[in-house]
Amino acid sequence: MTKFDVAIIGSGPGGYVAAIRCAQLGMKTALIEKYSTLGGTCLNVGCIPSKALLDSSHHYEDAVKHFGEHGIDIDGTVKVNLEKMIARKQAVVNQTTAGLDFLMKKNDITVFEGMGSFLNKNNVAIAKADGSSETIEAKHVIIATGSKPNNLPFIDIDKERIITSTEALKLKEVPKHMIVVGGGVIGLELGQVYSRLGAEVTVVEYMDRIIPTMDSGLSKELGKVFKKSKIKILTSHQVTAVTRQNDVVKLKATEKTGKEIELTGDYCLVSVGRKPYTEGLNLEAAGVGMDEHGRVAVNVHLQTNVDNIYAIGDVVQGAMLAHKAEEEGAFVAETIAGQKPHIDYNLIPNVVYTWPEVAAVGKTEEQLKVEGVDYKTGQFPMRALGRSRASNDLDGFVKILADSTTDEVLGVHIIGARAADLIAEAVVAMEFRASAEDISRMSHAHPTFAEAIKEAALAATENRALHM
Ligand code: FAD
Ligand code: NAD
Repeated sequence: MTKFDVAIIGSGPGGYVAAIRCAQLGMKTALIEKYSTLGGTCLNVGCIPSKALLDSSHHYEDAVKHFGEHGIDIDGTVKVNLEKMIARKQAVVNQTTAGLDFLMKKNDITVFEGMGSFLNKNNVAIAKADGSSETIEAKHVIIATGSKPNNLPFIDIDKERIITSTEALKLKEVPKHMIVVGGGVIGLELGQVYSRLGAEVTVVEYMDRIIPTMDSGLSKELGKVFKKSKIKILTSHQVTAVTRQNDVVKLKATEKTGKEIELTGDYCLVSVGRKPYTEGLNLEAAGVGMDEHGRVAVNVHLQTNVDNIYAIGDVVQGAMLAHKAEEEGAFVAETIAGQKPHIDYNLIPNVVYTWPEVAAVGKTEEQLKVEGVDYKTGQFPMRALGRSRASNDLDGFVKILADSTTDEVLGVHIIGARAADLIAEAVVAMEFRASAEDISRMSHAHPTFAEAIKEAALAATENRALHM
């Protein structure tokens, strides 16, 4: 039986980063993945393919709606070739997952293709597609088995017309009317993809606003932009039924007032969150415990109740984000190696890749109010920037929340062009516990979208934004 220092089950951003870091630290490392490609949800059916389709559909929308404004006339019609668009997305995925194969080889990591399940706390059986099985022994095991789409108990996801994000990434036609259950990240990103490609899109959200876990100012601004782009959003609606007859799907929901509504479409995307995935792991054989939400229970060191077994990423508590899983992968590798790593979960940024992009780090206004923190606000609109006018990306703002007494930045909330990249500045500032004044005194290149961060910081410090 082959013996390893560490065996990692699951090759998503949590698992593969843990594998690389373990190998870098000199451990003999095994990575077990049940699918034939590495990379997990993120690379195969998550972050990367969704961003590829967001980019392609954005180009199409620009060509149809905005080229004219820039003095570019198109002679003839601009058409969507969905088959080609989906094929390009798949090529991006294939290239990215192949890159992981290279990284595993480069780092001397032994990859096993098959379903990993515990035999006991040190032995993992790997069931392969050809029916054979192999058992390995490991001093330490890291569970990185990720998550799967959640569902509502009364919905039958047939994967044809009533679908999850996985199917929405490979549709064969542009829906006529896509009904989206859930106005969170997936619903809005993929809803925008198909809206841009010509579908009528209706988002039905249970809470009183979209992206309800983010700062309410961001929800409001994104809602306004979506309304302009004709994406219909129904908030405070509880979905009670989704049914399909041939090519027609029907959704019933109850408004807060008690009024019943019915929607008819040809596709229904169910995006009501994801749930941790532990099926087939045989956790009982190793004695690993779960928490009340069906996640693998871990302590602050991401260690389970069995001392040589750790768990990371979507399968444990916390935000279900690729970069959170990556941080945890490196964290556990370094912990096993005897180091003392640290993760500040408050500073894991959150991004929605719609256009305008939405990105945030730290506390929301709602959280600061609940915590009773005395804070001040500085906000600056994107439309006041020369850079925004040059590219005609006028929607959005930067909002900085800072402690009223110390001026320390407590939260940064951005909606606008390239917010996903801009938020990195806020993360750096907050990691170094910068004050709003610190940010306001740093030179920001002109003309850039990042100038809005400096201006918001000036507004937070002394209410003295320069260009407003
Ligand atoms: P996963 O990526 O889910 O990987 C787990 C792996 O374990 C899988 O490959 C699975 O096959 C394997 N596995 C499970 N059980 C076993 C077993 N018993 N034996 C062997 N292998 C097993 N996050 C972001 O930060 N940014 C984004 O832009 C973003 N976009 C997303 C878009 C979509 C449509 C979706 C669905 C998700 C998106 N996410 C995004 C979330 C992100 O994909 C997850 O947070 C991330 O993939 C979690 O990483 P992980 O390593 O914990 O698990
Ligand atoms: P989500 O938690 O972001 O959103 C789910 C939404 O569904 C919430 O707004 C919730 O209020 C709503 N909802 C729940 N039950 C409902 C009901 N009965 N009727 C109507 N609405 C209901 O989940 P998601 O969009 O499915 O995404 C899953 C996970 O994947 C998220 O945790 C997210 O972190 C991750 N993800 C991240 C990104 C990114 O980082 N850009 C992109 C996609 C997915």
